[in-house]
Amino acid sequence: MRLETLAIHAGNIITDSHQPAVQPITTSTTFVHHEGSVIYSRANNPNRMALENVLAKLEHGEDAAAFSSGNAAALAVFQALEPGSHIIAPDDMYHGIHRQLVEILKGIVEVSFVDLADLEMVRASVKPNTKLLWIETPSNPLLKITDIRALVAIAKEIGAKVACDNTFATSVFQNPILLGADIVMHSTTKYLGGHSDILGGALICKKADDFWQRIKMIQHVGGAVPSPFDTYLLVRSIKTLAYRMKGHAEHAGIIAEFLYSHPNVEEVCYPGLKSHKNHHVAASQMSGFGGMLSFMVKGSAAEADRVISKLKYFTNATSLGGVESLVERRAAVEGPDSKTPSNLIRMSVGLEHLDDLLEDLSQALQE
Ligand SMILES: *Cc1c(COP(=O)(O)O)cnc(C)c1O
Repeated sequence: MRLETLAIHAGNIITDSHQPAVQPITTSTTFVHHEGSVIYSRANNPNRMALENVLAKLEHGEDAAAFSSGNAAALAVFQALEPGSHIIAPDDMYHGIHRQLVEILKGIVEVSFVDLADLEMVRASVKPNTKLLWIETPSNPLLKITDIRALVAIAKEIGAKVACDNTFATSVFQNPILLGADIVMHSTTKYLGGHSDILGGALICKKADDFWQRIKMIQHVGGAVPSPFDTYLLVRSIKTLAYRMKGHAEHAGIIAEFLYSHPNVEEVCYPGLKSHKNHHVAASQMSGFGGMLSFMVKGSAAEADRVISKLKYFTNATSLGGVESLVERRAAVEGPDSKTPSNLIRMSVGLEHLDDLLEDLSQALQE
């Protein structure tokens, strides 16, 4: 089965004797004991099993683990490492996961934040206790591209695992496991949910090895699991993922070109643009460039705020991946330690009519 077909069918594991065509919601927290039965909803649940099945299939992995948020999924990977392990992480990454590494895991693991596009720097950062290379590509908010195959090659030499945050690309445009990664992470809150109304996260493994068993144990015993309702809703959203992603990427590609040639725009970060430093790497590992972009308005933060305030169809709000277009001045959200340029606007390009979006941007960017 191809991705579109899997997305529609792999989320149904129906055991109900009435044979409904769609996986029903099972709210029971407990189940009658019998051979092979689900026991308790923190350990497992039919809706979660259905979601994990479709996620594993979409990413070409052996197994998946669903969590109550993307952050909870990422934290489970770090918690599965031996204390004292060293992690190499990107210098531009989702700030909530960066915070986990510096605020929660401080004193438990060591971390080096490195520009993963610079392979010499990555090699120079390797230590005897390096156990994990954490990749985020495209990255948030600068849309930096990391060469997944090259990082996998380095990890193989040193016996480290590679985990990749695949939230921006989604399974539709990038499959890190097929490029050699061990673990794929998603904030399912974003494109997989797609309608800005579900919070969730997921991990998918290439091989269900001992490290993976530890992650599954952390999912069960740590207990940051999603509810039956959320997992049901996510399975429903995933059915249209491929078609939504095609729309997001088509719109984003055209908006990126429009912004690139606009006199009031200083710079555009979008991996689909030929001007992107690692466009060739993106083209070699992605089958589409996604629906996220960032751009720097000419002028200061105040000028970027003025543009945002004039937009009518782009909601000024955090998050991404929903059908509605969103913009956000990232530096304002990331706080005083942020290294994000203060005039950078991050845009989640939605599925409204493209001409409405272009007209809106055009009027907002006018002096
Ligand atoms: C949102 C996001 C996360 C965190 O996911 P939550 O569901 O908000 O916990 C992680 N990585 C990326 C790239 C994200 O955009």
